[in-house]
Amino acid sequence: MNNDLELLLKLQVIDYDIGELERSKEYLPDMMSNLRREIDETSESLGTTKASLEEARINQKNLELDIATKEQSLQKFQQQMMSIKTNKEYDALVAEIDTLKTQITEAETELIETIDRIAELEKALEEHAEKMGQVEENNKKQLDILQNKVDTIGDKMADKLASRKDVASSIPRPTLNIYERVRRGKGGTVVVVVKKRACGACYKSLTPKKVQEIKKAAKIHTCDNCGRLMFWEEEESN
Ligand SMILES: [Zn+2]
Repeated sequence: MNNDLELLLKLQVIDYDIGELERSKEYLPDMMSNLRREIDETSESLGTTKASLEEARINQKNLELDIATKEQSLQKFQQQMMSIKTNKEYDALVAEIDTLKTQITEAETELIETIDRIAELEKALEEHAEKMGQVEENNKKQLDILQNKVDTIGDKMADKLASRKDVASSIPRPTLNIYERVRRGKGGTVVVVVKKRACGACYKSLTPKKVQEIKKAAKIHTCDNCGRLMFWEEEESN
């Protein structure tokens, strides 16, 4: 392969790496904040479950107390029945007793529901606690790795820029100028392989003569359509 082409391909790889490093300045902090958010959200839902469980347990105690108090009142009313003197007193007391019995039944139903809810919440709490442990361990590990990447971007970038300067200095000015111009204009890949006798980027077909010239690689050829630099690669071209 033409030596200049080889250098251009090397330059292209370095430029790709530089682009990746630039992009990582954006996406690494995003990834990190997603990992932190996941820890926060998991912790929040663990906290919510804990609070709901505490509330349900307090509710259970209150209901039990309420039922006990109402049952004492019921007993008191039932004793009063023994000493009733008038029909009016009797009717009033029966009404009180009925009301209390209804209230006790309602409280008992709520108590059963609350006990069921406590069992569910205890199970959920166990699951949330387990998930919290996993998320914390996994995300903290990943955060460490990403932080390390963030911390080393500067050094890696400096290395890449130094290699770029080195490679670029060996490429003839006019060729380098074409490369830089196409890169600024089109971005991404500048040096492309010929595919099916056409430019590998814009697919504009090439004359048989041009294909032969590119194959020989005596000099660097540009695509008439998109301006990219083209090279021949036996395995992939035909
Ligand atoms: Zn092209």
